[in-house]
Amino acid sequence: MSSPHPLPPGFPRPAWVEVDLDALARNVRQIRSDLPSHVQLLQVVKDNAYSLGAAKIAHISLENGVDEFATFTVGEAVELRNTGLIAPILLLGERIPEEFPWIKSHRLTPCVGSVETAIALDAYARQQGLAMPVHLKINSGMNRFGFCWRSLDDWAPQLTRCQHLQISGALTHFAQSDELDKTFARQQLANFKQVLAQLHTWGINPKTIHACNSGGFLDLPEAHFDMVRVGILVLGVYPSQVCRRLPKLDPVMSIKARITAIQNLQPGDTVGYGMRFRAESTRRIAVLPLGYGDGFPRVRNEGRALIHGLPAPLVGGVSMDAITVDITDIPHAQCGDEAVVLGRQGTQEVTVHELAALKRSVSYDILAGWRNRLPRIYRGGSQ
Ligand SMILES: *Cc1c(COP(=O)(O)O)cnc(C)c1O
Repeated sequence: MSSPHPLPPGFPRPAWVEVDLDALARNVRQIRSDLPSHVQLLQVVKDNAYSLGAAKIAHISLENGVDEFATFTVGEAVELRNTGLIAPILLLGERIPEEFPWIKSHRLTPCVGSVETAIALDAYARQQGLAMPVHLKINSGMNRFGFCWRSLDDWAPQLTRCQHLQISGALTHFAQSDELDKTFARQQLANFKQVLAQLHTWGINPKTIHACNSGGFLDLPEAHFDMVRVGILVLGVYPSQVCRRLPKLDPVMSIKARITAIQNLQPGDTVGYGMRFRAESTRRIAVLPLGYGDGFPRVRNEGRALIHGLPAPLVGGVSMDAITVDITDIPHAQCGDEAVVLGRQGTQEVTVHELAALKRSVSYDILAGWRNRLPRIYRGGSQ
């Protein structure tokens, strides 16, 4: 398996992802203290913890109150185990039989959401002579993974024959939990509860029930059950602009770069491919050495960087390896100075939501979208 961090630690690239582990620790503690003590906290660290580095993130989170973790791929979970993480790891999504030996050897807990997977995993567990812990994934309306809430009488009898599966949990997932209108989420919750009640009549009594992602954790306390599965919120980013706010969350991720070139433009000069920016007066342009090849949105003449605590508007198009920003109004800016393209500098902040609007995408995509060629620099966390 290829390492998520092909670069040696401290690799000197003048553009990087900065990860504030102290902010992470505070966020975890704040979320933990907002939950009733009987509700467990699972952190979703799929996609390398939304690209921040799952191993580093998971160990700090564990020290500060996270009980369990979840990944989507077996590879992500195996990598976490190989760092010495012993907390339970839930595998989201659906599995294929080729993955079963890895699940067994690394003590992972798969979600199972189809009769085919259940039967195959049961056969594998029988052959290995063990009871395989699983969580039942219930499709309550998302219509992606899971046993359909409508057709329980078709699949529940088949599950009762899977004697080597130890059904230790049951979960569902909301299609919309962070918008003001909770109508569909409440409908899903009702569907899920109906399934749970009927499961009991089949003698299936999962111990750990869970439904909430970050939006549900914040806004649907009636759906907390025994555990919540929180991903983006732990990283200090709200899933939407309208969900409930906690007293003080801090963003864990920043993207920074050093100015590596400066150009002085005369009126009429243009900048970059396609000459997308034309100077109307003399202008000073700084080059920041990161671009769409690093995950920066491929925009032109939109967006900004922060330099010396001031906004420097992006001019021209974003290249694969560079963006150009106007520093005419920051005359003391020079090569080597630090620029922030995501995060805080002085009293200013470029938020994940601002970059998401630039990319015509969602905050999740802005966090997870930074490529591995940008080094991850960790700060704090008693390093
Ligand atoms: C990604 C994911 C989560 C976490 O979602 P956030 O909105 O980041 O909190 C929870 N459950 C499942 C099934 C997921 O895929």
